[in-house]
Amino acid sequence: MKIVLLGPPGAGKGTFAAQASKRLGLPHISTGDLFRAAIKNETSLGKKVKDILANGLLVPDELTIGLVKDRLLQPDAADGWILDGFPRTIPQAEALQEINPAELVLNLEVDDGLILQRLMGRRICRNCGKIYHMVTMPPKRDGICDACGGELYTRSDDQEDSIKTRLAAYREQTEPLVQWYGDRNLLIPLRGKGTPDSVYAAFEEVLRNR
Ligand code: AMP
Repeated sequence: MKIVLLGPPGAGKGTFAAQASKRLGLPHISTGDLFRAAIKNETSLGKKVKDILANGLLVPDELTIGLVKDRLLQPDAADGWILDGFPRTIPQAEALQEINPAELVLNLEVDDGLILQRLMGRRICRNCGKIYHMVTMPPKRDGICDACGGELYTRSDDQEDSIKTRLAAYREQTEPLVQWYGDRNLLIPLRGKGTPDSVYAAFEEVLRNR
């Protein structure tokens, strides 16, 4: 199955994708994670995108599309994938349609108030990438990942200013994709409110009724 996840920052795309990836045995491909890895490893791509990510802006389409094209050619992506954070613009969606079209597009819908609350409290394991929330999904030990004992950190773009820029970029450049995929009969709305398990249960219901 080839699944695209749409939704604003903080909708729960990463959490949902990690869960779906495990249960469906499909690779979770997050462009944000690929960019952050490039920055950490100080690759030439990482150097180009570092400031863009820090400021909450979108990386130019050409760079992003190239990165995804290469990733989808890896053997583990041959039988399907879960794309988290791509496409984010109409040209990216058009490119994906040419390279390897999505079969299902899930639009995770959440209210603006919840977005800010979720992003400000988000913590991520530096080692395994597991996502926590200081209020709704805290780790058992402060600052330590339950799953692997790794150190939890706050993403540099999870600060109020960057969050506002990211939301504006979402509204202007990404939200039109809801209509774009709707016109192609690929869009399925999913309430992103609630616990990760309840969101996943709603998705399973969608699969059963397809
Ligand atoms: P995310 O982890 O999905 O929130 O992405 C973090 C940041 O990576 C975004 O704020 C953008 O700067 C960049 N990014 C991720 N995916 C894309 C994309 N498809 N197009 C452009 N920039 C992206």
